[in-house]
Amino acid sequence: AKAKGRNTYHFYSQELDAAANERLFIENELRLAIKARQFVIFYQPQVDSRTQHVVGYEALIRWFHPTEGMIPPTKFIPIAEATGLIVELGAWVLQEACEFAARLAAQGRENNISINLSARQFKDAKLVPLLASIIKKTKVSAKRLHLELTESMLMGNVEAAITQLHQLKALGVSISIDDFGTGYSSLSYLKRFPVDILKVDRSFVKDIPDDPNDMEITAAIIAMAQKLKLNVVAEGVETIEQVEFLQNNNCFIVQGYYYSPPIAEQDLPKLFAKLDD
Ligand code: C2E
Ligand code: CA
Ligand code: CA
Ligand code: CA
Repeated sequence: AKAKGRNTYHFYSQELDAAANERLFIENELRLAIKARQFVIFYQPQVDSRTQHVVGYEALIRWFHPTEGMIPPTKFIPIAEATGLIVELGAWVLQEACEFAARLAAQGRENNISINLSARQFKDAKLVPLLASIIKKTKVSAKRLHLELTESMLMGNVEAAITQLHQLKALGVSISIDDFGTGYSSLSYLKRFPVDILKVDRSFVKDIPDDPNDMEITAAIIAMAQKLKLNVVAEGVETIEQVEFLQNNNCFIVQGYYYSPPIAEQDLPKLFAKLDD
């Protein structure tokens, strides 16, 4: 039993080493990857299910590493956040996404662009002046920009979060609560924050129409958003049954594989052939 215990310990420590090594690798490579132009932003359409028209896009970062291939954001965003590299990376995302929005506008496509903010980026005192300067340089219409935050980012220092949200809103942008329903925010909190959009988390949508609880929760979130006069977007929509359930509950803006996965900008013409034209 003793030997087995030792082996078990050994096994776990090797696993930990592997995880720590991967972390270290990603951390080191992240520092180089911006300059080496290894990041690309993919765009996932948000579609009005009544008209099949694209109303906006969410910007989702991709890392194409020369030897590791595609490293998903769920692997490197937390490390970028922990090391502070997210501030530089996030600034790059803001710049790229606004340039994309400006290119779309030049084609006569006035679409919203949703951009994910990380916790550190949101708390950064330089965020507001940075965004102001990017808006000015790219000439993007600020009202087209939707900044996606999560509930947990608002919960720590509530007063500071409210101040930062008001400063962002003063630039003309909209605020969206991502993954809504998975955090700890209560209704009374929500009313205190100047937010515009709720995104119903995929975890509630994915088992519609099989899970009656998820259907109740989704319907309740939509009804609550309407009472608070917030717009609502459903994410992770994969089937026609889900589209129809959402329509029947007054949620018409949907994002998910049913319409399109996130795609590279050069693949947009294929999307326009199917939707939006
Ligand atoms: P998120 O903001 O909740 O983004 C939605 C995720 O769901 C994306 O994963 C998207 O590809 C995926 N998705 C969309 N539709 C469907 C669907 O119908 N079915 C399923 N199964 N999945 C769907 P992705 O691109 O891997 O991004 C994961 C997370 O990484 C994002 O979650 C976001 O938290 C973070 N992230 C991505 N890009 C950025 C960024 O530029 N900055 C920051 N701070 N975080 C980012
Ligand atoms: Ca998001
Ligand atoms: Ca989300
Ligand atoms: Ca998520």
